[in-house]
Amino acid sequence: MGSFDWHYTIGLLADADLWRAALLVVELAVAAWALSTALGLLVALAQQSRLHPLRLLASAYVWFFRSLPLLVLLIFVYNSPQLFPELRPLLSSPFTAGLVALVLSETAYIAEIHRGGLLAVGKEQGEAAQALGIPYAGVQRHVVVPQAFRVALPALGNEFISILKLTSLVSSISLAELLLVGQRLYTQNFLVLETLLAVALYYVMLVTVFDRLRAVLERRLDVRRRRTKAGAEPAPENEAVPAAPTRTRPRTPHEGEVVVRARGLRKSFGPVTVLDGVDLDVHRGEVVAVIGPSGSGKTTLVRTLNHLEQPDQGRVEIDGRLMGGKDRELAAQRRHVGMVFQRFNLFPHRTVLQNITLAPLQQRLSGRADAERRAHELLGKVGLDAHAHKYPHQLSGGQQQRVAIARALAMDPSVLLFDEPTSALDPELVGEVLSVMSDLAADGTTMVVVTHEMRFAREVADWVVFMNQGRILAQGPSETVFDHSGEPRLERFFAAIGPA
Ligand code: ADP
Ligand code: MG
Repeated sequence: MGSFDWHYTIGLLADADLWRAALLVVELAVAAWALSTALGLLVALAQQSRLHPLRLLASAYVWFFRSLPLLVLLIFVYNSPQLFPELRPLLSSPFTAGLVALVLSETAYIAEIHRGGLLAVGKEQGEAAQALGIPYAGVQRHVVVPQAFRVALPALGNEFISILKLTSLVSSISLAELLLVGQRLYTQNFLVLETLLAVALYYVMLVTVFDRLRAVLERRLDVRRRRTKAGAEPAPENEAVPAAPTRTRPRTPHEGEVVVRARGLRKSFGPVTVLDGVDLDVHRGEVVAVIGPSGSGKTTLVRTLNHLEQPDQGRVEIDGRLMGGKDRELAAQRRHVGMVFQRFNLFPHRTVLQNITLAPLQQRLSGRADAERRAHELLGKVGLDAHAHKYPHQLSGGQQQRVAIARALAMDPSVLLFDEPTSALDPELVGEVLSVMSDLAADGTTMVVVTHEMRFAREVADWVVFMNQGRILAQGPSETVFDHSGEPRLERFFAAIGPA
């Protein structure tokens, strides 16, 4: 075995030129990663766009630049001023040429990483934000992208390390990065292995440092690891557990000022007709319960009322304003319609308080101080003010649903829609949510509630609508529907679900 000059290798670890080169590598890699991460997100969003040409363009970009070897691209970009002299001032610097080539290529890879992240965020998250009246750009920016980014982060970190090492290719267009500085040294002293080992150690050091940084960042972004501060948690028995709902107000007559007017709603999914001509009026201060067998179209009906589902035919008016139109118009209309989902759909990356203030702040309906004061007020109303700074995963299902109600109320909607708000809850948690809903009803909140809680429908609702196979089969004041419906299909339904 020949001799290996260890002293020389170790000496290179303090070499000023190599440190300068290491710094250059970091600058190039950070700039390339940051730009590709931003551009890659745009390409990934474009791939999901409703506009066909945009989707096509984005996919073509990814296909083309993923197929090109980086070295080929690099040399091409560096020499492209031969073809386009006006690019010379920009691309004559090997650093810029290297950056452009890296960004062109990495944007294609990173777009795929983002696409995976975006797909991992359930569509109910976007819908919950839409239902609050937030337009597309805000939904992506505040709700979907932050969650997608958290999912993509390990892969993005990995891609950074790839980029860090790929910068060595830029030596081919004579950028004085680590490899080129090393090559210059060993062409003079012929200590090839000694020099390359030192170069390798620089890379190992850089990768190690950045991998630690990535791990720290990942942990900071992971709100699910956050624990509640000791003492902040009130013992469950200290929390006022609300009583079962009872009627505490006179019945609101099914007349007067109409808040929701739906006419001739029809909706099919493929060959299945889900809404088959539904007319519905909801008056101010009225609680309408929608009951009926599974698959009868109840969910689709309430989703059509705020146009999360576009009806094929028919119209919905809220406070006399016709629903429909483009993104921003729909968003403005949806502010008047609050929605509470079966599975709560709170934003997991935001605290309880931030869940409630997001929509008012995003739409600049009030300043931060006002929005937070109102949020605390609403949390007080649903009995959760002590939990304002927790994350949704730190709450029980019943508490999450009460936050969801407060979040919907923060927009001061004209009507609140509920789609089986207690069906996803453990039985002992159902009462607390129904109780909050009864309180709202007693305060005169206009509500449409799809429910299987027959006791709630009987006690709290003013008007009961029975749906079957996409149609309203019977409707009337709750005692009429419950006590002598006279409709065989309705009698069978009541018989099947047991006494209310
Ligand atoms: P309910 O809430 O009364 O159980 P839904 O409105 O959820 O009823 O659904 C009614 C019917 O429409 C069901 O047969 C369901 O499978 C179908 N359906 C609902 N949403 C969709 C959808 N997005 N695509 C296809 N079919 C759907
Ligand atoms: Mg349903």
